[in-house]
Amino acid sequence: MPFPHRLVEGYRQFADGRLRHEQGRYRELAEAGQSPEVMVIGCCDSRVSPEVIFDADPGELFVVRNVANLVPPYTPDGAQRAVSAALEFAVMQLKVKHIVVLGHGRCGGVRAFAERDEPLSPGDFIGKWMELLAPVAAAIGPRSRHASLEEYLSRLEYEAAVHMLGNLMSFPCVRILVEKKRLQLHAAHFDVGTGLLSAFDPAAKKFASVAGADHALLFAQPRV
Ligand SMILES: [Zn+2]
Repeated sequence: MPFPHRLVEGYRQFADGRLRHEQGRYRELAEAGQSPEVMVIGCCDSRVSPEVIFDADPGELFVVRNVANLVPPYTPDGAQRAVSAALEFAVMQLKVKHIVVLGHGRCGGVRAFAERDEPLSPGDFIGKWMELLAPVAAAIGPRSRHASLEEYLSRLEYEAAVHMLGNLMSFPCVRILVEKKRLQLHAAHFDVGTGLLSAFDPAAKKFASVAGADHALLFAQPRV
């Protein structure tokens, strides 16, 4: 079975471009190991790659992605938990200084939760996973209280990212480092349609655009 053509072509481009220009950096990273300062918890959605959005070089971001960028609360029950394992490694081994929960617009996982879609398989893995949003849904009130389904979904996306910071704090290793001011937690949201990035301001208790002036300028210019 042939390897996907798109991936072969993509790798060719990478090898001829980025790898050629950054050989030294890759070698250095191979020898010294990685030391990213930022962990990003993002969604699997193919439109919201953190490395692309933040224009990251190899070795700069430690990324874990799952459906709807969720963080299960601390549960030391011995079960296999991918997010907990990545979190433990990022915090205790890599000693990252920031953890960013990156939500996004038009999230299929959030929509599946809101619309209570029929399970895609008998296992209903998405349905069970998305139950992590139940406390967020309870906090923002029923869908009927929102102007439209789109407004409700958007509210869920933003509030979920903030709620996940609370779940992160339920991990003792995270809480201790945050309290010692050696680790900062951030909630952010990327709007797929407009490309606008916003981050939660805990003091103002609301999201504010990141580099909003640059973004506004970009869209003010005529597109060719
Ligand atoms: Zn998503």
